[in-house]
Amino acid sequence: MTLIDTHCHLNDTEAFPDPDLAASEARVAGVEQIIVIGVDLASSRLARDLADRLEGVYFTAGHHPNYAHEFQEADLEIYRELLAHPKAVGLGEIGLDTHWDFATKDEQWRCLRAQLDLAAEVGKPIVLHCREAYPALLDILEREPARDWVFHCFGGDRDDAARAIALGGWFGIDGPVTYKKADALRAQIPDLPRDRLILETDSPWMTPHPHRSERNRPALLPLINAAVAGVLDLTPEACAELTTANARRLFSGLGYSK
Ligand SMILES: [Zn+2]
Repeated sequence: MTLIDTHCHLNDTEAFPDPDLAASEARVAGVEQIIVIGVDLASSRLARDLADRLEGVYFTAGHHPNYAHEFQEADLEIYRELLAHPKAVGLGEIGLDTHWDFATKDEQWRCLRAQLDLAAEVGKPIVLHCREAYPALLDILEREPARDWVFHCFGGDRDDAARAIALGGWFGIDGPVTYKKADALRAQIPDLPRDRLILETDSPWMTPHPHRSERNRPALLPLINAAVAGVLDLTPEACAELTTANARRLFSGLGYSK
């Protein structure tokens, strides 16, 4: 069984003092490829360094909305350079977040806007972070359709899902699918396009059941796969095959091996 963790933060040095170990434990658990996600310049560079060093590890570069107040136009040139790397499979995570107020709405918009333009320019898929802002973010995507994008850790309602489906969006499924109280999410997944579902841990957050008291890690992805398999009435093997093929279609850079 081959799985791909399409979203994790092995570049979080506090949570992962030994990212090499976390990556090798993931490999033992069947997680053959890992995408390490950038949230600002420093974390994007660290993600690139991990991808440079570790086989099966890829990365994205981008500026998260919660850090939008630190974003400067001049950063775009550095993100552009990072995205030219052969193991840079996408741009992100970028988006909108009205749950937290680290950055103002204006700062978030400016930061997002600039990076959507950059994504169009470099032609790589976009990893979207969206928290309590689905209608606003979908408004933007409807006005100015982007090529390929995924709602990472999708948590929207049925209206949001319908709008995203109409736009050709993809859906990242995480640990909450394993939670006892997540009936609404589990009920929604069968209505999402099967060929646009990908798995992610969002490590070190969103730890799947029954490990919720622990720090999340890519090696726990099989638990998420098993839960999604149950919801889709597939065997875990078939679900792994489906979601792995999907991830490789969205992130075509995963075909690069070194
Ligand atoms: Zn993330």
